[in-house]
Amino acid sequence: MLYSIHFDVIVVGGGHAGTEAALVAARMGQKTLLITHNFETLGQLSCNPSIGGIGKSHLVREIDALGGAMALAADCAGIQFRVLNSSKGPAVRATRAQIDRVLYRQAIRFQLENQENLSLFQQQVDELVIEQGRIAGVRTQGGVEFRSSAVVLTAGTFLDGKIFVGLNSYSGGRSGDVPAIALSDCLKELNLPQGRLKTGTPPRIDGRTIDFSVMKKQLGDFDPIPVFSLRGNASMHPEQLPCWITNTNIETHDIIRSGLDRSPLFTGIIEGIGPRYCPSIEDKIHRFSDRNSHQIFLEPEGLKTHEYYPNGISTSLPFDIQIKLVQSISGLENAHILRPGYAIEYDFFDPRCLKSSLETRQIEGLFFAGQINGTTGYEEAAAQGLLAGINAARYVSGEAAWIPKRSEAYLGVMVDDLVTQGVNEPYRMFTSRAEYRLSLREDNADMRLTETGYKMGCVSEEQWIAFEKKRENIAREMERMKSTWIHPSMLPVKEAERVIGKEIEREYCLADLLKRPDVSYDSLASLTSVSGGNWRTEKELDKQVREQVEIQIKYAGYIERQTREVRRQQYYENLRLPANMDYSEVNALSIEVRQKLDKQKPETLGQASRISGVTPAAISLLLIYLKKQG
Ligand code: FAD
Repeated sequence: MLYSIHFDVIVVGGGHAGTEAALVAARMGQKTLLITHNFETLGQLSCNPSIGGIGKSHLVREIDALGGAMALAADCAGIQFRVLNSSKGPAVRATRAQIDRVLYRQAIRFQLENQENLSLFQQQVDELVIEQGRIAGVRTQGGVEFRSSAVVLTAGTFLDGKIFVGLNSYSGGRSGDVPAIALSDCLKELNLPQGRLKTGTPPRIDGRTIDFSVMKKQLGDFDPIPVFSLRGNASMHPEQLPCWITNTNIETHDIIRSGLDRSPLFTGIIEGIGPRYCPSIEDKIHRFSDRNSHQIFLEPEGLKTHEYYPNGISTSLPFDIQIKLVQSISGLENAHILRPGYAIEYDFFDPRCLKSSLETRQIEGLFFAGQINGTTGYEEAAAQGLLAGINAARYVSGEAAWIPKRSEAYLGVMVDDLVTQGVNEPYRMFTSRAEYRLSLREDNADMRLTETGYKMGCVSEEQWIAFEKKRENIAREMERMKSTWIHPSMLPVKEAERVIGKEIEREYCLADLLKRPDVSYDSLASLTSVSGGNWRTEKELDKQVREQVEIQIKYAGYIERQTREVRRQQYYENLRLPANMDYSEVNALSIEVRQKLDKQKPETLGQASRISGVTPAAISLLLIYLKKQG
């Protein structure tokens, strides 16, 4: 051993999980070390150059509400912003940003290098140091031993990663990066339940060889320009670029079919299961054989590069087939491929071997976060990294773990899904996974989480002050909307017709008017310019405040109903099951259910109810047993 150095928390891996974990542990005052293969790939987007989208943007906003890095970095690196589902209800609206990869890496590295209490170290970790069932540190390839009482492992797709292009395969963590073989072997010795998953990426194309004139142009939103971070603003965004839309055709599909006999997926060489909702193009034409065309989005990879990401043709077909299939697509007839598409197969660990804090049940102080837990996606990884970092910091200082509830955050939904149900395919977030969607909106992530984050020490004083001001402004404006009355005599007929659709027949408060389907906060604000008076709505009020007031008033009935439902469920949901509970003592519980509970050791009755095969009848028996125990 060359030398040994002590830290409070060590984070292995500088991807999306690792950077959030390291930043938050350091923000919480722990002396933290982030060790990663290569500083140049800190915050690297391994696949698509975009952040957010449906379900995922909710996680990004939650990370942001807890002081995390992803949303701010996206604001500094976003080259096209859109709000998806903007015509639908606020629960499913989602922000999505096209990202300049280089700017994103720079923004993440800047945050890491300027974070107090955080040190960086570039080297491969080969071994975990475990003493008496507890983590004690890590050893690197170069023989350096770093010691700590908490380690967060975020190795992504690197554990025994294998890359496939057609029938060729080689070891790699992702294209251009070495795999983590020694660490994978070390983890195998721990006998944690594990498996193999796979994911894939499309070939990248030189934009100078694309004929954009035959494609449909897709611009971002400009009025207003969306912003990701609740601490950000549109002036942080760099230059904005369009994306382009084209389609596959019958010829493309024939070319793909002609290569299936050399496809690692279809010849069974790849055994790991891939993401069903993000299939390769060969999977798509196989599964949807009746379709003659699939849409392809050509997304710029950055401001200072000609590289384009053709979203929709992820593939691991042989390279000669990749060239033909790309060149069969309208506008890509002369396309030059800069990097081949490929699939990657890697080790993951069954997340049911984790507590809800993301600490492994088997080794005290060892936390897992990100793709290693069977998830896919930058946002899912970053959110887990943040949670693991918070809990590693709390573990070190002897505090109880923070476990966000399903009714509180998408982060709570994801972690609960993972630790109770495990994964049989890469897990990604969807709004449909959350039962309390209307309460868990992307617009109110700070209302749900920032106070908790501040109390835990992961939100800065500056963020807290801005949040408190916003919360006060919302409360004040809500009060004013409810207590400001408008008599018909105050409202000229023409104005009433323009804004409300008809004259008002009696006195209404502003909140009542806002509840009407076609009335918006801003339209009410426009009324005041004509009518004047002390019921004037504040046109200048911050956009985030206006949005909150509007949503809280318009959806008040639904939100209250959901809040009552959450309260009703809370008692059973949070009823704790003793860690060493002997399920054989619970009368009439079937052997199958007993075995499942013994294996998965749910922490609460709510978690037990979500384990597949644990019936409502079994939950009643557990409840009776717990009541008898007092
Ligand atoms: P990663 O981003 O993989 O980061 C892991 C980090 O750990 C790296 O910096 C690595 O260098 C470091 N590391 C690993 N082992 C060691 C070690 N022993 N010592 C030191 N450092 C180590 N997601 C989607 O949502 N949609 C997609 O279509 C999609 N396609 C993908 C295609 C490919 C080819 C790949 C590789 C990934 C794809 N992903 C996709 C997944 C997405 O990239 C990951 O979900 C996300 O990056 C996971 O973040 P992470 O932090 O867990 O790991």
